[in-house]
Amino acid sequence: MPLNPEQQAEIEQARATTQETRRATVPALEEILYAALPVLDHGFVRVVDYMGDDGAIVQAARVSYGRGTRRVSEDKGLINYLMRHRHTTPFEMCEIKYHVKLPIFVARQWIRHRTANVNEYSARYSILDNEFYIPAPEHLATQATANRQGRGSIIEGAAAQRVLDLLRQDSERAYAGYAEMLNEDDKGEPVDPTWPGLARELARMNLSLNFYTQWYWKTDLHNLMHFLSLRADPHAQYEIRAYAEAMLATMQRWVPIAHAAFVEYRMNAASISATGLKVIQRMLAGETVDQVSSGLSPREWRELMAVLGR
Ligand SMILES: Cc1cc2nc3c(=O)[nH]c(=O)nc-3n(C[C@H](O)[C@H](O)[C@H](O)COP(=O)(O)OP(=O)(O)OC[C@H]3O[C@@H](n4cnc5c(N)ncnc54)[C@H](O)[C@@H]3O)c2cc1C
Repeated sequence: MPLNPEQQAEIEQARATTQETRRATVPALEEILYAALPVLDHGFVRVVDYMGDDGAIVQAARVSYGRGTRRVSEDKGLINYLMRHRHTTPFEMCEIKYHVKLPIFVARQWIRHRTANVNEYSARYSILDNEFYIPAPEHLATQATANRQGRGSIIEGAAAQRVLDLLRQDSERAYAGYAEMLNEDDKGEPVDPTWPGLARELARMNLSLNFYTQWYWKTDLHNLMHFLSLRADPHAQYEIRAYAEAMLATMQRWVPIAHAAFVEYRMNAASISATGLKVIQRMLAGETVDQVSSGLSPREWRELMAVLGR
């Protein structure tokens, strides 16, 4: 686990404390509140705070004076309706705050999601840990040829070992250079008093993208679902997907009805173009349609056939 005993103790202390409140709480999410859920080799995601529950969504949708909830089946029907018809603002009434430890290259993809509040660990102020991501062997793959953004076949044997050796050696060398430039021991004293030591904001420059950073990331449920729909999707890079999948599991604990609606109407659903729809209608009418007669580009045709499981 990537936490030192001091960090672990702080988490345990936070988990041991409970507060009485009139606000909505969700027992299943309380169970894992503050706990670090491991992701990749040194990373984690932990829920550090949240506001609202499934009831808060229906409460807002009904603009209720009380909790706004009725029978579970009615609430479920309403949430499904809101999700299906992209009536999104009731989902914005729920908020969640995560603490995430993640490789810098994952953070670069993640930070593109602008509709969140972020505060990152300052490597101008603090010294980064000697922790870098090394992929598990089964995640080493060649460059994909069909999809130029993705991965192809798995790399095995001597080639895989060489990649892992290079990644480790380069990272260790980079950290050794970083530490030498900083010239600071654990107490902030110079290791070599005859040498000046470089500012933290400059020394970090040589660290590679696989070094870990950390941030607090807060967003509302609507924007969380937008993030998850893009990053828990099979097209997303495995490393950010690993985080998104852990967060999807926290969403399931937090708002199980909204989660089920999200999986049904967004994650496992498909968006089909007008021409694609016509193709399906022609097929249902018994016509044999191929790519050329479909009016779709070869790529769109492949995507439609994949959606139809053909
Ligand atoms: C598989 C994949 C591949 C990608 N490849 C690349 C790539 O090669 N290069 C690259 O640069 N990026 C790439 N991206 C990033 C992508 O283009 C988006 O920047 C990222 O997914 C964030 O999406 P978003 O803007 O919808 O999210 P958010 O920033 O969270 O925004 C959510 C929504 O709010 C609205 N919004 C937010 N800010 C604005 C604004 N300023 N103006 C108008 N509307 C706004 C939009 O409706 C937006 O969809 C990739 C993403 C994915 C998932």
